[in-house]
Amino acid sequence: MNPRIQPASLKWDEMGTPISTQFDDPYFSKEDGLAESIYVFLQANKLAERFASLPENGSFVIAETGFGTGLNFLLSWRCFLQNAPKSATLRYISVEGFPLRIEDLRKSLDQWPELEGFSEQLIHHYPVLVPGHHWRSFPTGDERNGRIGLQLIFDQLEPALKSLHPKITHHNFDQAIPAVDAWFLDGFAPAKNPEMWEQIIYPSIARLSKDNTSLASFTAAGAVRRSLAEWGFKVQKVEGFGPKREMISAIFDPDWQPEKEQIKAHADKSAQTWHLPPQTSLLDQKQDKPQKISIIGAGIAGLCLAKSLAERGIEVNIYDRHNDPAQAASGNAQVAIFGRLSPDQGDLEDFVMHGLSYAADFYKPYWQKVGDNCGLLQLPRNDKEKQRMQLLVELLPNNNGLVEYLESSQSAEYCGLKLKEDGLWFPNSGWISPPKLAQEILQHSLIRFIGGFELSVREEFGKWLIADQDQDFEESCESLVICTGAEVLNAGQFDWLPIKPVAGQVELVTTKESTQALKTIISQTTSICPSNEGIHCLGGSYRLGETSLENRKTDSESNINKINIMLDIFNNSDEIKNSDLTRSRVSVRATTPDYLPICGAAPDIEQLNVDFEPLSRDAKTPINKTAPSQKGLFLNLGFGSRGYAYAPMCAEHLASIICDERSPLPNRLQRAIHPARFPIRNIIRGKN
Ligand code: SAM
Repeated sequence: MNPRIQPASLKWDEMGTPISTQFDDPYFSKEDGLAESIYVFLQANKLAERFASLPENGSFVIAETGFGTGLNFLLSWRCFLQNAPKSATLRYISVEGFPLRIEDLRKSLDQWPELEGFSEQLIHHYPVLVPGHHWRSFPTGDERNGRIGLQLIFDQLEPALKSLHPKITHHNFDQAIPAVDAWFLDGFAPAKNPEMWEQIIYPSIARLSKDNTSLASFTAAGAVRRSLAEWGFKVQKVEGFGPKREMISAIFDPDWQPEKEQIKAHADKSAQTWHLPPQTSLLDQKQDKPQKISIIGAGIAGLCLAKSLAERGIEVNIYDRHNDPAQAASGNAQVAIFGRLSPDQGDLEDFVMHGLSYAADFYKPYWQKVGDNCGLLQLPRNDKEKQRMQLLVELLPNNNGLVEYLESSQSAEYCGLKLKEDGLWFPNSGWISPPKLAQEILQHSLIRFIGGFELSVREEFGKWLIADQDQDFEESCESLVICTGAEVLNAGQFDWLPIKPVAGQVELVTTKESTQALKTIISQTTSICPSNEGIHCLGGSYRLGETSLENRKTDSESNINKINIMLDIFNNSDEIKNSDLTRSRVSVRATTPDYLPICGAAPDIEQLNVDFEPLSRDAKTPINKTAPSQKGLFLNLGFGSRGYAYAPMCAEHLASIICDERSPLPNRLQRAIHPARFPIRNIIRGKN
């Protein structure tokens, strides 16, 4: 895991201005921070005029170095709502290596009553303090949520900028379209915070800038001006705010073209980029997103995706073979929001962190209605795991809001039961009732659920025809997403997917006196939820490769036995007994060889085998193309037993790809979950 962030340490002056004790510099002007931000960043970048001249459905990208208190973000958001067309979207990318703790953020923003409506939302959705790309989209009063998107990257500036990529056009990397329309360079003063202004950041800034991208900074330092000029900017010194004599206002010079080879040489060389979606619409600035999309599979993957698409103004038909949504793998009575964090650094570890961080925010509006934000305690399965838990929390800031180490002596206070083991405490976790969550999501006026049809898919005249066997139902659609979990294997055209079904059995047991006090979810080799209406949901078993829905007595006994041991009520006269069992339920999940989901455009395997064939001779051969895909066909599945933790993040990623927006995930994770990774690995291993 990347341990590169630490929380900001602040003091406050007599005017209430936050001052960094790490850098001995204020976050904004002591005279009038709000007026300074407007002058230095919004006006110098001419944001009001540029927002007002955006076309219908247009989009604008701001990138900032140093999120701090979020003041610049809030002002840009307000200015966008005041000026941009209602259909336009703002993407605000900001990097912060020393994020404020929530209480400091609240105190800093309290001094701007005119921004109250905006600050409240930022505070409510402020990410947990763990490294990574944190994605939030803010509501703007109607059902369309995605208009204001904040990609807040908690990381050091230099690696964070490298993890962003330009957009790609026409499947060809030579025609990359850079992403950013306006830059706010807002580190602390260069003399006090040199890393924020180091030479190494300017190639990334240039790589992400397009012709006439604007840039503003409060500083007029000569070194900064010279670096910007060296990397393609026409730099002007203009009058600064208040007592500051001068500041920088710059424009990325369209005539700097010939030197662009220089930029490429600085791009992240280790990153292959075949996973990036071609974004053809950017060429003429018109939004190319579909008006209507069909989804097959109304489990948590399909439901979250339907929500993300509907919030972007797209009509969604979501189909399922069951008469009701969330009936198969997503349908247990209580489902815990959980993922295993690790101190290691790797794609899976990073993805779990991103998934959990986003889930912590996603479920906020639902807890009260459809579940319980009761927290979850993960107990180690052995001593080695216990050490790794300790290491994990040492790498993360204290009180980060996502995970803490809990001593067994504290377990009674947190969980209601005194347990023998220490463990990891997840305060933002809890359990959800799937059918109730489904009903909430399906309330969106653009989502229509159609149940009771066993559907198959085939291509016809460049569209996707979905039909049931008896021809009672048929629909032709331009865009289709398959979210059917392990059942995708039943459709012949996806038999190349290396998905393995896993049958799992959970038990519903009557609450006992010994378990009544349980307030939170406890998880070890198996898990138990606190009592809901006199019943606990516990389990489940793991039958790799099996699809049988048969209940097994041996699984029930084993599930119950493990819970008795875990809760330390084993051999107690009030332990859970087989006779307490009211029902068992088996469902089948879909797992992948790398335990990461499969989320993205469905590859055109034949063409991919041709295009990427050189990899069979040398896996490092640069292939200057995106992975060829089947037009309008997408996959979103393979979540194993972590669907509720991963699906909200994957839905936002896939919806952004479908709508021609930038993905909220870093480059590396987009590649790690792309469906084409498996056929590409096969080519490299000579197995295609
Ligand atoms: N834009 C902010 C606002 O609206 O409140 C103020 C930004 S403050 C002047 C500079 C920010 O840069 C601080 O939040 C600081 O933690 C951050 N910073 C300093 N060094 C950094 C680094 N190496 N990587 C990322 N962020 C860094």
